[in-house]
Amino acid sequence: MGGYGSGGHNKTHRRLENFHRVDSFAFYDYLMGDKYLYCKTTVQYPLNRGDIIYHVQSRTALIKVLSVQEGEYRYVDLPLSRVHGIDGKSVRMYFHCPYCGRRVRYLYDYYKHYACRKCAKLNYSCQQKSGMDEIRLKMERIAERLDYQWWRNDFDCIADVYYIPKPHYMRWAKYEKLMQEFRALKKEYERNIENALMKAYKALCR
Ligand SMILES: [Zn+2]
Repeated sequence: MGGYGSGGHNKTHRRLENFHRVDSFAFYDYLMGDKYLYCKTTVQYPLNRGDIIYHVQSRTALIKVLSVQEGEYRYVDLPLSRVHGIDGKSVRMYFHCPYCGRRVRYLYDYYKHYACRKCAKLNYSCQQKSGMDEIRLKMERIAERLDYQWWRNDFDCIADVYYIPKPHYMRWAKYEKLMQEFRALKKEYERNIENALMKAYKALCR
C-alpha cells in the first residue's frame, strides 16, 4: 500500500491515475481463462474493495462493495457489452459505468464506488467544496499532532490515510482518542462523497 510518490503538480490528474482501476479486457480474459466457467453459476472477480460477481447463465454482472453508510454490502448493477472484432470471432468486453452508463474499458475505485473516469473526476471536484476542505484540514491537524507529517510521502490526500502510527512518547489513551477522532472524520468524509455520488446518480435517473 501507499508509495504513491510525493509532491508534484497536477494533483487531480495524478490522483485519478493512481486510483485502482478495473480493466474490462482483463476481466474478460479472466472469465475466458476459466476452464470450468460453464460448470459454474457465478464467478467472483476480486477487486481492490469488493468483487465483481458474474452470473454465468445470464451473462450479467454485479459489483459488490462494502457500503460506508450502511456498513453492509451493497450490490450495484454492472452492465456489460460484448463487441465483436472484424474477424467475427474475437470478442472484447466493456463495462458500462454504473453511474452514467457510458461504455468504458476502465472503472476507477473511487471511495468504495466503481465509476468511469468522468464520474470519478466530476466527483473529485466535490472534494474541493468548503465542507470537505474543512474535514481534510481537521484530519491534517490530527496527523500533525501525531507527528505524522510525512503522510504526504505516501498519500496525495489525507482522507486516503487509513492508519497513523503512535508516537513512542505519547500515552495510549491520548493516541486512541486522537485516532478515534480521525476515524470519525474519515467516515464523515466518505459519507459526503457517497452522498454526492448518489445525488449524481439520482439526477441521471430522473
Ligand atoms: Zn460514469
